[in-house]
Amino acid sequence: MDSPFPRLMIGRDHLQPEGAFAQAQAEFLDPDRATVAQLDRLLAEKNAGIVAHFYMDAELQGVLTACLWPHLHISDSLLMADRAVTMAQQGVRTVLVAGVDFMSENVRAVLDAAGFALGGPQPVQVLRLDQRPIGCSLAQAAEAPAYAAFLQQSRTVPHSLHVIYINTSLVVKALSEQELPTITCTSSNVLQTMLQAAAQLLDVHIWYGPDTYMGNNIEVLLDNMAQMTVAEVQAIHPAHTPATVAALHGRLHCFAQGACVVHQLFGAQVVEKVRQFHADALLTAHLEVPGEMFALALQAQAQGRGAVGSTSNILDFIMQALGVALEQTGPQTVKVVLGTESGMVTSVVRAVQGLLRQHARTDVALELIFPVAADAVTVAGDSPLGIVPGPASGEGCSVGGGCATCPYMKMNRLDGLVELLQVVGERDLQPWYPHPTLGSLTIEELMSWGTRPILAMRHLQRTGQLSAELVAAVTQGRFAGRARDEANSASRNET
Ligand code: SF4
Repeated sequence: MDSPFPRLMIGRDHLQPEGAFAQAQAEFLDPDRATVAQLDRLLAEKNAGIVAHFYMDAELQGVLTACLWPHLHISDSLLMADRAVTMAQQGVRTVLVAGVDFMSENVRAVLDAAGFALGGPQPVQVLRLDQRPIGCSLAQAAEAPAYAAFLQQSRTVPHSLHVIYINTSLVVKALSEQELPTITCTSSNVLQTMLQAAAQLLDVHIWYGPDTYMGNNIEVLLDNMAQMTVAEVQAIHPAHTPATVAALHGRLHCFAQGACVVHQLFGAQVVEKVRQFHADALLTAHLEVPGEMFALALQAQAQGRGAVGSTSNILDFIMQALGVALEQTGPQTVKVVLGTESGMVTSVVRAVQGLLRQHARTDVALELIFPVAADAVTVAGDSPLGIVPGPASGEGCSVGGGCATCPYMKMNRLDGLVELLQVVGERDLQPWYPHPTLGSLTIEELMSWGTRPILAMRHLQRTGQLSAELVAAVTQGRFAGRARDEANSASRNET
């Protein structure tokens, strides 16, 4: 029986797509030379850099990866901000963000914190590729009243810490930090963040959101760890035992109403087809996918033939698997199910072909399988874009907003990038800056409160520890939100 999923065979010097979706992805990997040269010239003329997310439009990624200009970077959201700072340190004065708005905010906040604020001595402007807001279903979930209500529950629970996914707006980070001590996390560090918090704060209660699937998957990971031996747990975090992990699980509160519109497509029917048609393949799953896909990949990971985690974890796993195949003699095909947004294909193809060329092997290939739901919908009246990823043709995929592609990310278009670069440096181009969309924050308060959870995460990454300030805020119960409400109520009573 033929696989129902699109597939892309990646050889040293060729790509062999199966299905229209894979065909389109492959075509974008061989971009128009004149466009690449035009982009290289404009970037040099304007002294600009680009940071783009792995989920970016395949056409745009294909062009970016063919450019020679050094200040170009494609990664997950965490590294995007780091690389923007590196570019600024190397003299770049404009950073274009090819991502969604919380990524632009993150880049702006981290650049400000690194001394590249717009009003400072070394100003670096940040620009977005589309004039319209570029949202994200997860970020929107955290802006709903239900999320504020979820956080308010922490008011009755001492020693509460809010671990918020980086895929949220700056205004939500700021309002959260005003409510209770908050640290951001990414899919690559969320588990370590929670374990480290529980190592430094023995009775900490963790409030995690807004991604419900990721929250559920973390609970599964903690359950798994609670069944491990002490040595196995300590290989993951040296301060823990199965008992402390089980206790942490009991103090973990996960938000129940937030989902990424892309990752929720990896549901039960897709998993059944993966089992049926690709039982011999390696399995990968992003932490944001629903439980069925996550459980299957977790099981595969335990057997040494799968990986769960962030986009970077998935790419690392694929490259390790290819490395093992390269140690063998004779023809080999490594089959991998890509359990995340299909925009990762560009990074996977470039990395795989680079390694195959390094080893001069034409007899080894990697087959990438895109597990997309056949019954995913295309039109959604309540979506800000009017669409969600879904089928537009017989095989269940389309290039523009097709299965397993993020409709928000795809608002970043190649023509928009070229048009924007052409006007960089002109007087009427206003530099973009985050502004409050909720609450009554001033821009200064938004930047100051909203940046704190990001800086708390960066401190943890740098030192391996939660900062003394964050620990003190949790242990002393800095309920700023409650204090503010009480002050307002007192002033109402006086008048
Ligand atoms: S894939 Fe799109 S909707 Fe999903 S978390 Fe990323 S930006 Fe948001």
